[in-house]
Amino acid sequence: MSYFIDVILPIPLDKEFTYSINSSEAAFVKPGMRVAVQFGKSKIYAALVTVVHQTPPIVYEAKEIEHILDESPIVTKDQLKLWSWISSYYMCTKGEVMRAALPSAFLLESETIVLKNENNTVDELLLKDDEFLVFEALQYQSLLRIQEIMNIVSKKNVLPVIKRLLEKEVITVQEEIYEQYKPKIVRYIKLDQEYKEEEALKLLLDSLTRAPKQREVLMQLFTLEAQTSKPIKVTELVKKSNSSSAVIKTLIDKNILEEYHVQTDRVHYEADTQYESKKLNEYQDIAFKEIKESFNTKDVCLLHGVTSSGKTEIYVKLIEETIKQGRQVLYLLPEIGLTTQLISRLQQYFGEKLTVYHSKYSVNERVEAWNNVKGAKSKAQIVIGARSAIFLPFTNLGLIIVDEEHESTFKQYDPAPRYHARDTAIVLGHMFKAKVLLGSATPSLETYYNAIKNKFGLVKLTRRFGNVLMPDINLVDVKTKYKKKQMTGHFSDTLLEGIQDALREKEQVILFQNRRGYSPVVECNTCGHSPQCPNCDVSLTYHNHRNQLRCHYCGYNMAMLLQCMACNSTELQTKGFGTEQIEQELKELFPDYKIGRMDQDTTRGKYGYEKIINSFEQGEIDILVGTQMLSKGLDFRNVTLVGIMNADNLLNFPDFRAHERSFQLMQQVAGRAGRTKKRGKVLIQTYNPYHQILQQVSINDFQGMYKDQIEERHQYKYPPFFRIIKITGKHKDYNKVNSAIDWLARSLRNSFHENVLGPEFPPISRIRNQYHKNILIKIPQKQSLSKTKDIIKKIHTSFATIKEFSGVRIIINVDNY
Ligand code: ADP
Ligand code: ZN
Ligand code: ZN
Repeated sequence: MSYFIDVILPIPLDKEFTYSINSSEAAFVKPGMRVAVQFGKSKIYAALVTVVHQTPPIVYEAKEIEHILDESPIVTKDQLKLWSWISSYYMCTKGEVMRAALPSAFLLESETIVLKNENNTVDELLLKDDEFLVFEALQYQSLLRIQEIMNIVSKKNVLPVIKRLLEKEVITVQEEIYEQYKPKIVRYIKLDQEYKEEEALKLLLDSLTRAPKQREVLMQLFTLEAQTSKPIKVTELVKKSNSSSAVIKTLIDKNILEEYHVQTDRVHYEADTQYESKKLNEYQDIAFKEIKESFNTKDVCLLHGVTSSGKTEIYVKLIEETIKQGRQVLYLLPEIGLTTQLISRLQQYFGEKLTVYHSKYSVNERVEAWNNVKGAKSKAQIVIGARSAIFLPFTNLGLIIVDEEHESTFKQYDPAPRYHARDTAIVLGHMFKAKVLLGSATPSLETYYNAIKNKFGLVKLTRRFGNVLMPDINLVDVKTKYKKKQMTGHFSDTLLEGIQDALREKEQVILFQNRRGYSPVVECNTCGHSPQCPNCDVSLTYHNHRNQLRCHYCGYNMAMLLQCMACNSTELQTKGFGTEQIEQELKELFPDYKIGRMDQDTTRGKYGYEKIINSFEQGEIDILVGTQMLSKGLDFRNVTLVGIMNADNLLNFPDFRAHERSFQLMQQVAGRAGRTKKRGKVLIQTYNPYHQILQQVSINDFQGMYKDQIEERHQYKYPPFFRIIKITGKHKDYNKVNSAIDWLARSLRNSFHENVLGPEFPPISRIRNQYHKNILIKIPQKQSLSKTKDIIKKIHTSFATIKEFSGVRIIINVDNY
């Protein structure tokens, strides 16, 4: 009898592969376990088993597996189901989903190991210098890894050395599979059994009178043991007794102390105080009841509550009820780095029950979170994370909260799977019969449409908590201000007065500008030339602080020019402005106040955001300038003025969602103002104060915005009335991508006619030396989505067979918005 398994490989190939196993392996292996398999010539992968069966593959002979990597499944059946859904809905391979879903520690990869060739005597004189270094190292070490060889020969490209050594038969190579996850082992210490008797102990202490340090360690150990029943860490003992590990080692060597090891979790929350959740006010309470009522008949509910209405406290109540039933909660956030405030709030309520799943955490920390969720451990009953948290192995999910559901970061743009975490969360919820709550002050049009159409429940909170008024929003016409010479740098007199007033009252100010750097364009006054990125179709942004020109698409940078590259003129002028320039102007305008800046340039590193957010919270910063990072749900108590430096570049973005997004962004930024007693003030500078969206922002008119925008969507055939699939071709050769995408568009048009838009080069058509060209396919509601995708796949397959288009990368993005 022969046995087979089908596996998913973590590579972008559109099918599963069959391998053969023997009968004892067949008795052991289960779907969701990993096996090491060979694929291609020599590469070894950790593949994931999906089925065990007895049908040999037809077109190829199944290879044997190398070995089984797990003792029990690491991936659940439900996860495999979700992966299938994602791969079919978002038109990507299961391998791509697997890559996104598993913590990288589970994605083993093979590593090359270099060994001494024992069957050959080497004439050292024939070796070049770098070859000799490797040869010599192998005399002392039985094997070398690539990284070590790089260190030995002190260069990165070591493959030529390895190749030469192989040819000279000095070395052999071997592939090894390694596990990246290492459980964290903690060293504990206790008194040896022998001294548990009082008599023996006394004798021992007496015998140590001449070793005061050792004695002190023992005394401290007794004190610690008396204080707690928990095991005592070596590090703790060293610290408490002011001693060294050498002293402890001596005691261990003498068999007085005994050490032991326990596997522990790396991330754990030490609860100092746990708080009761807050009592809801009457409006929150009504909303809370309405949500639960809606959950009786619907799986998804939208909580549309204005900024600072107390949505989070309602989430907390729902979470409490869910975990009381012993079920798990998933709390999805757009960006976890920006939400330390929220996390500490939730930790106060839920302490150890809360697990944070964060891409900035180490691989090991993530594996632990994974295992805790899978084991339905109490410490992972509530998981908070950004979009990838939907991939965790839940077993008993009861509630999913999607906070700030309108945020575009829930969609993954690159690489595949290009999934939307909110939409995937709804599918995930459905699998578990869990309820899904979408929360936002500015819901996305699609979600609001679904709520209005009764597909989702709809619950509203229209007042801020504590009856704080919504901020007072005013538009400032900078065109007139410039004419009347009432501008200082990029500040209107109105905005400057507002800032002065706030500072006088010892209040804080937030200023929003949607561009980082000093200015996005440098232009020659003589010939008009402006420096461009050599790799992308964009002008370089001037960064004053480093005196550099930088590309925001590929990272290219060069020193700021002293002369025009085209005409050598020294009259260079900067155009437009970013956060850096605003910061600098502020420093000159308000020399006695502390100015902070929050953008991609100032928030690098694991705690980048936290530092700035903390010092703003602590009042160490008076005015904070930043990009849209500032819009993300921050809750500052002392901010009374928010200024938007320039609303126009938001509105003029070439995208069908630009108006909706501008509305959301401005409302969210405005929502940072006046969250406590005093009414907040918002000033929006614009050249176009009569713009409909700005008018709507200024009177908090979500309904009006929705009505206008949804009408436009209907008229111009955009979501939610039509779905969109975007197809992008990329290649470094302009002509090649051009003719390839034209061919593709023609073929698609045969099937989809006028619903194919383009092909078109986007405004920035070259990034990192790759030309891009796009096609949009619009799909009416009555057209079958799966049939549409089948046709696209078929056309893509025949495209792939055309020789002259080889090398053109095709990217399919379903719901690309
Ligand atoms: P949202 O999430 O809607 O923006 P939050 O939940 O952050 O609003 O609430 C705004 C502020 O009001 C927070 O500082 C929060 O602590 C406070 N708050 C909300 N609900 C209550 C309540 N029931 N009791 C006391 N304080 C509350
Ligand atoms: Zn010039
Ligand atoms: Zn570039």
